[in-house]
Amino acid sequence: MKIEFFRHSVDKEDRERVDEVLRSIFLTTGSFVSEFEEKFSKYLNLPYTIGLTSCTAALHLALLAWEIGEGDEVITTPMSFCATSNAVMHAGATPVFVDVEEDTGNINAELIESKITKKTKAIIPVHLYGQMCDMKKIRQIADRYKIIIIEDAAHCIEGMRDNIKVGQLGDAACFSFYATKNITSGEGGAITVHDAKKDEILRMLRLHGIDKSAADRYTKRYKHWDMVVLGWKYNMDNIQGALLIGQLARIEDLLKKRQSLYERYVDVFTGLKGIRLMKTKSDINHACHLFTIQVDENKRDEILLSLQDKGIGVAVNYRPIHLLSYYRSHFGFKEGDFPVAESIGKRTISLPLYPSFTEVEQDYVIEQVKKVI
Ligand SMILES: *Cc1c(COP(=O)(O)O)cnc(C)c1O
Repeated sequence: MKIEFFRHSVDKEDRERVDEVLRSIFLTTGSFVSEFEEKFSKYLNLPYTIGLTSCTAALHLALLAWEIGEGDEVITTPMSFCATSNAVMHAGATPVFVDVEEDTGNINAELIESKITKKTKAIIPVHLYGQMCDMKKIRQIADRYKIIIIEDAAHCIEGMRDNIKVGQLGDAACFSFYATKNITSGEGGAITVHDAKKDEILRMLRLHGIDKSAADRYTKRYKHWDMVVLGWKYNMDNIQGALLIGQLARIEDLLKKRQSLYERYVDVFTGLKGIRLMKTKSDINHACHLFTIQVDENKRDEILLSLQDKGIGVAVNYRPIHLLSYYRSHFGFKEGDFPVAESIGKRTISLPLYPSFTEVEQDYVIEQVKKVI
């Protein structure tokens, strides 16, 4: 058997919508992006979505929109993809890591305050694997110190905790539509905000700081445009927008399929010798982006190889950011700095989980995992 780690869920209708864009004259940011932005806002019950080229761009622009940069500190987690803390450096600020909870891999809210200084301007919690962080607690801390929250929701469009959805308590939330994410346009991202002024600034920042979009410039009568701030080139295009519209309409169905497979994994692996699982906290709607098991750290890499020999695609999410070479040499981080993140990083294995992953395939994966362990 050959089982991919991930297969996207782009269907015929999605391809037809892309074809519609390709047969039109307007390939860049236009009506398909606007339609996606409106529908995304509606899905999350938030007022503003700005379509971008990646979640990295979203994180970067969020920091710029709140004028966070040189001399500022931003608190985040080492248990994420390096995009999260790289974006802090793209903005010129310094990432400050806080260790994570053993049960969830999410930032440990109890430890945040001890890292807050006069320079701290923002917290970037990451909703790891699709389970939301404790946003109520993080909001309280942010309010107490008058700092902002930028949610890294790359794993968690569909999540909910304590009846709070992603993006509701954060000042901004950042989303990824990268090739392996819950909905995808190959590359792509978005940011949501609550504030009309921030929406306006972000729309300029995504396109060089120009005060009119290409659609405004060319589909209406020509008008001179101006550049008013130094922006970037991060605008989502109509091809990406078109790919996402249909997937967004199916997002709850896609989630249900992943949830059911996720629960099957939990059922068979719970209590099994040699395997530890992440726990889902109470009152959580888990977006089930990734399913991970944790194994003996001395055998993890061997197990990764054996599973691949059996044709099973696997991944490691994540070896902690602070131990990557750049972070070690640039900031002097070392083994022992964030022990919980390190322990997860040494033991974790991500198994296949996506809507078109069949129960037959899953049974094979389960059988092979049991065998090799
Ligand atoms: C994928 C991912 C990102 C980066 O998303 P891009 O769209 O590739 O920039 C950021 N944070 C997390 C947690 C991710 O998984």
